[in-house]
This record gives sequence, structure tokens and C-alpha cells, in this order.
Amino acid sequence: MDNKRIVVTGAGGFIGGHLVADLLRRGCGNICAVDCKPFDEWYQFFEQVDNRKLDLSGKEACFEALQGADEVYNLAADMGGMGFIENNKVLCMLTVLINTHLLMAARHHEVKRYFYSSSACVYAADKQTSENVIPLKESDAYPAMPEDGYGWEKLFSERMCRHFREDFGLETRVARYHNVYGPHGTWDGGREKAPAAICRKVIQAKLSENHEIEIWGSGNQTRSFMYIDDCIKGTQCIMESNITEPINLGSNQLVTINQLVDIVEKIAGIKLRRRYNLAAPKGVNGRNSDNTLIQKLLGWQPSIRLEDGMEKTYRWIYDQMTAGPARRAVSGALARNV
Ligand code: NAD
Repeated sequence: MDNKRIVVTGAGGFIGGHLVADLLRRGCGNICAVDCKPFDEWYQFFEQVDNRKLDLSGKEACFEALQGADEVYNLAADMGGMGFIENNKVLCMLTVLINTHLLMAARHHEVKRYFYSSSACVYAADKQTSENVIPLKESDAYPAMPEDGYGWEKLFSERMCRHFREDFGLETRVARYHNVYGPHGTWDGGREKAPAAICRKVIQAKLSENHEIEIWGSGNQTRSFMYIDDCIKGTQCIMESNITEPINLGSNQLVTINQLVDIVEKIAGIKLRRRYNLAAPKGVNGRNSDNTLIQKLLGWQPSIRLEDGMEKTYRWIYDQMTAGPARRAVSGALARNV
């Protein structure tokens, strides 16, 4: 890899942390990792990188972060699973400041390429009313009726990327991520998503001997889940491509939430009583990714089976839950020296 400067925003989070790790593996020697969290809260932290703690909702911080940048991966967002986005619509929508200021800074600093992490939450609600959902193709985002709050912000920011490209010649690339999961992600605290939450609940049940699990919704809602390694590979393929329109990046292996619980129970070697909380946030009834376009244009398809990715995720969360503070400190220190 040449010495181009690559800025990763949201680098203290789940996908950003994995992206920095992968760029290092690929030999990139000029990475700037940015997040607003204190360094000791970053999910992965690499000493050899130019790490910056900056609140990117501010314009000045964005101009500082992108100074000298050749490429930008914008993964910074105030977000979480359904429990968070249904109850924090303002916070989700305020993320618009991050992408807007970053685009302005990218234009100013003549960044060569800019990646934006959009979401399947941009898709119109009336196309996701049934569990037997027809996989969502890119054109299904319009006429617009996205997820309230979070989805509107994503759709607006997608268009902002488009217009910076059309009006100012900034090369933008946009992926619509469908549920990404894996180790080194949020697994408790209220922002976690279904795969991590289910792993945590199953582990809690196993450790506590209270063999019951609460499931949000009827458990019949359907989703697809993409393992983090597939996401990182796909992200870089999209960044390097000539695809200027938003494109799906997700798995098309559709499962019900009940089936996801089955998978985790099998990994844990346990069977739990299921209690359904119909009042809890559960999102749309069905959502799947139509991968026709990305397969055709990039030959990309997910390579990791849900069962295998969930096994790795379960093991990692199990370690987090059972490690004492001393062991956590040691593994944190090890991660810093990777
Ligand atoms: P994450 O919450 O783990 O990471 C986001 C990071 O952004 C966090 O570390 C957070 O501290 C940082 N951040 C928030 N506000 C900031 C600010 N003002 N300045 C600087 N940093 C700030 O989330 P993730 O799962 O890694 O998601 C990365 C991107 O992918 C986000 O844009 C998200 O919306 C998108 N996405 C993720 C998924 C998924 O399943 N994980 C699905 C669809 C889209």
C-alpha cells in the first residue's frame, strides 16, 4: 500500500475499530483514527496509529481531522440497536452534523475519496410489513418512508454525499449496511443489537441458572446478519469501486429472531424458556438484503455462515462477561500492542 493518509471516523466503535485493524494488516502506514470517546473506551486501540479524540459534530473538529487526508471512511454516528434508535430520535438525527461537516471538510481539503456508512434503515417501511419480506433492492428506498429518526438522517446524508459528488466533484461511495455483528462490538448498556443482546441474555441465563430468555417482539420478525469480516471486505471493495450510487452490503441469509435464538442456544448447549415482550421495540416485521447488484458489479457475497459468525461472537462476549477486571486490563493492553 502507498503512504496515502486514510482517516477513519468512529474508529473507537465496532466497525471503525475493525477497519483500522484491517488497514494495518494491509500495510497502511498513515492512518488517522478519530472518535469522540476517551481512548480507554475505544473497542480497539492501536498505538501505531495517529489517534485523535474529537467531537466531529463540530465543523472545526472535522476540518482538523481531515487535514492532509487522501481518503475518509466516515463511520461515526450516535446510534445503536432498536432499543436505542426508537427512543433517541433527536440524537440519531443530530448525527447529520457529523456527515455534513465532514463533507465540507473533505471538499476543502481536496480529499480524493469519501466513504459513508448508510443503513438498511433507509428502506421504505411499506416494503417491510411482512415477515416473508421480498429482499430489498436499492431502488426500494424511494418513495421515501424510512425508519423515523435514524433512517431519515441516513437517507438525507446519502443524498448529501450524492450532491457533493455531483456539484463539487468529491468522489463519494455509500454502502447500506444490513445488521453487522461480531466481536469487539457493543453487547450491553442499551445500544447493543439483536445478535449481541441474544448472546448476552443466553450467557446470563446459563451462568445464573435462571433458564429463561426475554425476546423482543413475537420472535417471528425476520432479518439478515452480516459478520464483521464480510463487512470490512465489502466496505473496501465499494470504496475502491466506481459505484457512485448507494449499494446494499449485507447478508441475504434470512432468519427469524427465534431462529437466531436457536443458533445461540445450540452454541451454548442450553434450551431456554422464551418470554415474549410484545411491548418492546422490535423494528419492522421483515428485512432482507437483495444482493443482485453488488454480486453483479463487485462479485461480492458474504462468506461467513451465521452459525460460524455467531459462535465467534458468543465466545468473545462470554469472555467479556466472565473475565475479571484484571484480565480485562491485560487483554486491553494486548489489544493496544497488536
Ligand atoms: P458504533 O456505535 O460502535 O461506532 C460509532 C462510533 O462513532 C462510536 O465509537 C461513537 O463514539 C462515534 N461517534 C459518535 N458521535 C461522534 C462524534 N460526534 N464525533 C466523533 N465520533 C462519534 O457503531 P458501528 O456499529 O461501528 O457503526 C458504524 C457506522 O455504520 C454508523 O454510521 C452506523 O450507523 C452504520 N451502521 C451500522 C450497522 C451495524 O449493524 N453495526 C448497520 C447499519 C449501519
